[in-house]
Amino acid sequence: MHNQIKGIVTRRIDFKENDEIISVYTPTLGRVPLLVRGAKRANSRYKALTQLFTYGDFTISQREGLSLLYQGETIDYFNQIKADYDKMSHAAYLCELVNQVSQDYEPDKELFEWFLAILQLYNTSVELAGLTHVFELQVLQRLGIGLQLYGCSICNSQHIVGLSLTMGGLVCAQHVSQDDRFLVTDPVVIKTLLALNRQTIDTLANVRLPKETVQVLRQIFNYLFENYSGVYLKSQKFLTVPTKL
Ligand SMILES: [Zn+2]
Repeated sequence: MHNQIKGIVTRRIDFKENDEIISVYTPTLGRVPLLVRGAKRANSRYKALTQLFTYGDFTISQREGLSLLYQGETIDYFNQIKADYDKMSHAAYLCELVNQVSQDYEPDKELFEWFLAILQLYNTSVELAGLTHVFELQVLQRLGIGLQLYGCSICNSQHIVGLSLTMGGLVCAQHVSQDDRFLVTDPVVIKTLLALNRQTIDTLANVRLPKETVQVLRQIFNYLFENYSGVYLKSQKFLTVPTKL
């Protein structure tokens, strides 16, 4: 049975001499592992279509394991991303997050919509890190380690003195621990994180990180993924973080 799906390529693996297996993340079927015959031949029609984070229209024969590509058209190749190392790094990282948080044939339409909207903005805007953090917040929630950002993590008090990664979110004066391994007290960082957490797909275009928060926010997310997620993200280290502010 042929099935038409729209989706974004999140992984490609060489297979046999001329073929490739790609993962396509779709709103309707989740992640679809897809065999693309002849993808590595010089004259393959699917050179652009099978590139990482290309958004395309795929006609497939759906199987229980590996599905087969019959035909495909590129919807958006994201030229601007592919021409810029920083944009590429962020987009590759998003692909890795999607692969880690999703299962084959288990759809998550909302995550797909975030993913597509953020790639579209990477392509056209200058903001990268802030958009990436919005996506990371979505992924952390799905991994069951979302930050508690509505009042103190322990008592729900609104008198917040910091963000404790050990406690998993905001903390009040009573529940802040002196030997906390990762405590953030800078109000600008906390305010920025709360603003990122309030974003919707419609407001994403307005995301801008204050310069002084860029480095510490990257450290916060690295720490959360490294210590609590159980997933290893090899592309995380390529995300540019200025060492001097
Ligand atoms: Zn408290």
